[in-house]
Amino acid sequence: MKIALIAHDRQKPEMIKFATAYQEILKHHDLYATGMTGKKVMEATDLKVHCFKSGPMGGDQQVGAMISEDAMDLVIFLRDPLTAQPHEPDVNALIRLCDVYEIPLATNLGTAEVLIRGLKMGLLDFRNLVHETGHEFFNL
Ligand code: PGA
Repeated sequence: MKIALIAHDRQKPEMIKFATAYQEILKHHDLYATGMTGKKVMEATDLKVHCFKSGPMGGDQQVGAMISEDAMDLVIFLRDPLTAQPHEPDVNALIRLCDVYEIPLATNLGTAEVLIRGLKMGLLDFRNLVHETGHEFFNL
């Protein structure tokens, strides 16, 4: 699976703790991140992360471009709900694209925990079917 990791500045310590705690799961996947988030995750772990530009410099939009190609399977976006961001339109656009393409998205650590554990349990395997068929798939 292709996973995007993004954290606003005040959430970066949480992202580092998250990536460290779940390194054993994350290492089996293709990881992408906005610039500073990816740099900090790589410094703190043995994970390899493809780093885009820093978020305010267009990194969020680069992640969004992958989503629009259906080339991203999970987005962990630890955003700061208490601080105005200079690139707020990009943040909203990224979240919107996740909804457009029905990409699992966590915007806080609680949901990130659920999604990463779900990933390990195979609950995101429907994404493989989306890739194979190009269509929604409900395996109920
Ligand atoms: P950063 O960007 O990882 O380069 O700090 C995150 C963001 O603010 O979107």
